[in-house]
Amino acid sequence: MRVHEGAAAVNRPVLVIGGGFAGLAAAVALASKGRRIRLLEQKPHLGGRARSLIEPVTGSVVDNGQHLLMGCYHSTLRFLETIGAAGRVRFQPGFALEFLDASGKRTHLRCPRLPAPWHLLAGVIGSGSFTAREKWELLRFARMLRRNSRSATAPADGATVSSWLRQAGQSETLQHNFWNLLAVAAMNEDPEIASAQIFERVLRLALFSSAADSRLGFARTGLSDLYSSLAPAYLQDRGGQLELNRNVRRFIIEEGACRGVELAGGERLEADHIISAVPWNSFTLLLPPGLLRSDPFFTRTLALRPAPIISINLWFDRRITEIEFAALRDTTIQWLFNRGDDGSGEPFVSIVLSGAHAHVARPKEEILAMALRELGQLLPAAREARLRHSLVIKERFATFSPHVGVEALRPTARTPVRGLYLAGDWTATGLPATIEGAAQSGYTAVDELENDLGRIVE
Ligand SMILES: Cc1cc2nc3c(=O)[nH]c(=O)nc-3n(C[C@H](O)[C@H](O)[C@H](O)COP(=O)(O)OP(=O)(O)OC[C@H]3O[C@@H](n4cnc5c(N)ncnc54)[C@H](O)[C@@H]3O)c2cc1C
Repeated sequence: MRVHEGAAAVNRPVLVIGGGFAGLAAAVALASKGRRIRLLEQKPHLGGRARSLIEPVTGSVVDNGQHLLMGCYHSTLRFLETIGAAGRVRFQPGFALEFLDASGKRTHLRCPRLPAPWHLLAGVIGSGSFTAREKWELLRFARMLRRNSRSATAPADGATVSSWLRQAGQSETLQHNFWNLLAVAAMNEDPEIASAQIFERVLRLALFSSAADSRLGFARTGLSDLYSSLAPAYLQDRGGQLELNRNVRRFIIEEGACRGVELAGGERLEADHIISAVPWNSFTLLLPPGLLRSDPFFTRTLALRPAPIISINLWFDRRITEIEFAALRDTTIQWLFNRGDDGSGEPFVSIVLSGAHAHVARPKEEILAMALRELGQLLPAAREARLRHSLVIKERFATFSPHVGVEALRPTARTPVRGLYLAGDWTATGLPATIEGAAQSGYTAVDELENDLGRIVE
């Protein structure tokens, strides 16, 4: 057997299955290297779990759920820059959060332009959002996080976010009023369940790397216009094929190698290389059942569990607040965003409820009534305004649950099947299910594939 190093000729296009952030990032990365790609998406539109729709009654562009980006989303920004969409994200000048308490109190955490972690420390010290004791707890915590991650205070294997924060001397009120809001938003899971190790990684990347990485980013457009309208042009200009309404039913795998896919209508497409960028619950349906049951690499993915997100979009007869976005304290609803100020359709308020296991089975009318009641506590103007229209969106499979031990269930991009590579926010990125995890996984899958193509085995 001889192994040559060097770029291999690829006769057939690489098949990319799934047109979310992961699949599009992978397809764009391949196309930028001159590879031919064929992307198959089962839906009539691209975007997967990060997409927008035009709400028919109001004409507003509504996302399937409010998405935030961060300065530390380096893979996402690389992807957006490549397709010419980086300008469609507006970043804060510096990390800043506003808190709205159920008592009506409004406070801020604004971090000045200083090198990390001083930006954060100065922000905490100057903030009215914390008591003097909480500030002291936060400063101690920041010092701990700055130390080597192998220190005794690094989260233990079985630590949840809550147990780790308790161990790190964070009081119940600080957890309730600050950490839990951040943790649920970043992880989409109850801090009593979520893995401290993943959360610690998020904190290091998002808050302690650099002031620029800490900034929050907002799409200036609906999510679909952010990327899924520009990526197709990039791909097609480079000879890529992008096919919607193409539902892959199964992978064709023979003698340990991937040979192609079969579509729902029975059509077979041959391929030597496939990047699967579908969510885990779709992926397990595409594998031959024997392989799924017999190879632990695949079997363990069956243990991944979903975590839901509920979005409550509200159109009032008047503006109820000028606040751009706020973290909500002492309420079930968690975040509030003012939307639609870009002139597309009517302005509205979008409320987010993440890690929504306890609420996802409730009727939408109940969820709406709860949101309106709580909004009235937070903002007096909401009590006086008349609700003209509402849209409650339940995303039951919003993300995988990043519970303790989940890292052992997440597969790498390289699989035991020759020619089959995995991408998607649920693969082993080390991050929770995020746009960044998805984009990063797309690039990783392409790197693995390119490594293999660079080694021709005879
Ligand atoms: C409500 C909500 C709010 C969120 N908020 C944030 C946030 O603020 N910040 C953040 O970073 N992340 C957020 N996320 C997470 C983020 O949206 C996801 O992590 C990311 O979009 C996942 O991208 P992906 O490409 O891995 O998967 P997906 O977007 O799910 O893409 C997979 C694609 O594969 C297609 N597919 C599936 N099966 C098949 C098949 N058999 N054949 C062909 N195609 C198939 C699907 O139709 C889909 O288009 C949020 C998610 C939700 C739902």
